[in-house]
Parts: sequence; C-alpha cells; structure tokens
Amino acid sequence: MARANAIYYGTQDPFADFTTSPEISQVFGEIIGLWAAVTWQLLGCPDPVLLVEAGPGRGTLMADARRAVRLASPSFAAATRVHLIETSARLRSAQASRVPDATWHDTLASVPDQPMILVANEFLDALPIRQFVRRGSDWTERFVDRGQWVEQPAADAEVPTGRATAEGDVVEVNQPARDFVAALGERLVRQRGAALLVDYGPERSAAGDSLQALAQKRPVDPLAHAGAADLTAHVDFADLTGAARARGASVQGPVPQGAFLTALGLFQRTERLARNRTPAEASALNQAAKRLADTAAMGQLFKVMALCSPACAPLPGLPDR
Ligand code: SAH
Repeated sequence: MARANAIYYGTQDPFADFTTSPEISQVFGEIIGLWAAVTWQLLGCPDPVLLVEAGPGRGTLMADARRAVRLASPSFAAATRVHLIETSARLRSAQASRVPDATWHDTLASVPDQPMILVANEFLDALPIRQFVRRGSDWTERFVDRGQWVEQPAADAEVPTGRATAEGDVVEVNQPARDFVAALGERLVRQRGAALLVDYGPERSAAGDSLQALAQKRPVDPLAHAGAADLTAHVDFADLTGAARARGASVQGPVPQGAFLTALGLFQRTERLARNRTPAEASALNQAAKRLADTAAMGQLFKVMALCSPACAPLPGLPDR
C-alpha cells in the first residue's frame, strides 16, 4: 500500500476520485485560518511563526485560510511563514499557483525548528497501514501479492493491544501516522505551537478492516487498482493521542467535525457569503455547509483533534480534557 499510494498521488488527479472539505466550501479553510489566528494569540504571538500544512492537496485550504487571516488578523498574517509538506510533484505545482510564497518539504523533519501552527486535513488517512488478522490464538499480517491477499505469521508484539477481537478479525496499525504525531509532539515540547488534525475515524480504537479505495468518487476493490485508486483507512485517534502524550504534548479533542465547525461559525459565515448571491448559488453554499456539518454526511465520522505545547490554553472549538 505504501507504494500504491505514492504512485497514486504522484500520477493521478486525486480530486477526480474524491472530494475533500476544503473543496466543498471555502468556509472550511477560512475557519481553520481563524482558528490558527486565535491559537497564535493564545500561544503568546510568537513572531515569526511557521504556518505549516501537511498534505495540502490543491492548496485550497491554505489559500482560503490566508485570505481570511489577512482580513481578520494582519499581525498574524505578517508573522507567518508558510511551509507545505507534500511528496507529489504534481500537487506541489497546483499548490504553487495558490500559495506562491510557500516553502516545500518532503517530510516534517526538514521544516525549521521554530514556533509553529500546523494543520492537516485528510493527510493521516492517506498514509499506509499494516493489517493483522487473528488466527486462533496467533496473528498473521496480510499483504497484497499480485492482486491477492497473502498472510504471514506476525510477532504478537507488533499487534496493537486493547481491542476485543474474534477469529478472523483485522486490526490495523498506521505506523507513519504514529511517527508523524510523535515527531510533532516532540517539537511542541521544544517550541511553542499547536497542530490541528482533521480526519475520519472512530473516537475509540476498534478492530475492523477500514481500508477503502475510491476511483471516480465510487468505492472499488482495494486490491484491483494499485496505484490508480486512492487508498485510505480510518484514523485511530486514541492511538495517536497516546503517541503524542508519550512525547509530552497536550491533546485536545477529538470532537466531531460538525460540532467544531458549527461552534466556530460555519453557518453564520455561510449566510453572509450567500447574501449577495443568486438563489441557486446561495442554495449551493448552504448545501455545502450542511454536507460538512450534518451527522449523516461528514459531521460525525470526521473528527478534529489538536496537539499543543504542554499546558496550553483550551484552543477554539476544542474542549480541554
Ligand atoms: N488536504 C488536502 C488533500 C488531502 S489528500 C485536502 O483536504 O483537499 C492527501 C494529501 O497528502 C495529498 O496532497 C497527498 O499528495 C499528500 N500525501 C500523501 N502521502 C504523503 C506523504 N507520505 N508525505 C507528504 N504528503 C503526502
């Protein structure tokens, strides 16, 4: 899966296959920009501050965020230096047309060690998972070989614990997501900062096969289209909370995306935008906002979680725990 998705993001237009929140409504990126501006103040207005995005897709979120920030918080806008973490050359060039002054990185490791606010939407779900299968009292790991699953014995120590499992159940591990969150946690202990991670998955760790492939906005067999379909898996927020806390960072949330966006003014902002539009445009804006927030659409399955420096104040939209 690691190679399949690297090939996919490097060669295909992912946005023909799936639609993400920033592509659904400009208000999504605007709210995240304002979240970052308030968070910057709560961190004591470090200047300069890096505004980092991991997996920025077309650059839409960052462009919408900065437009909102320039209007609402010119001092934050002036302090920010934009850094984008992106491996796909094709998407880098799309990002450059919307965020021309950014600096690009392949990984978090080369982003300068300074105070930062990082955002990521649907980044962690694109990182490759491993899948373990319970077979009696043992575990196997399953791999894809020429379009077929094959299972090989796995060491118990590699399989995450704490989940109720029965014969044949699948348990997933997203080691790159854990490593990313652990590295972020380390930075947030060294340097003032915060990170907002938006992705989809359950609040509690559970067994289950969540690997899915999308092509042309329709589910397809994950094994049949290696490199040509987008592969994603649910993000295990509880597992990632543990990885961040183990490095000493604070964690706030996760909260459902609908609650987060509604608390931060999704519907008020949408209504203002709709005021000067035609009835058809106004209705499209309202539908888009509902899609982001409704429980039956993206409002509940998608979650928002923040990491921050130890003992930071409660961040906008996120109850402290
Ligand atoms: N955040 C965007 C795009 C989500 S798609 C949006 O919401 O629209 C996932 C993004 O992560 C793409 O930009 C993809 O190229 C990037 N990506 C996937 N794997 C990556 C990796 N290992 N390192 C850096 N970027 C990666």
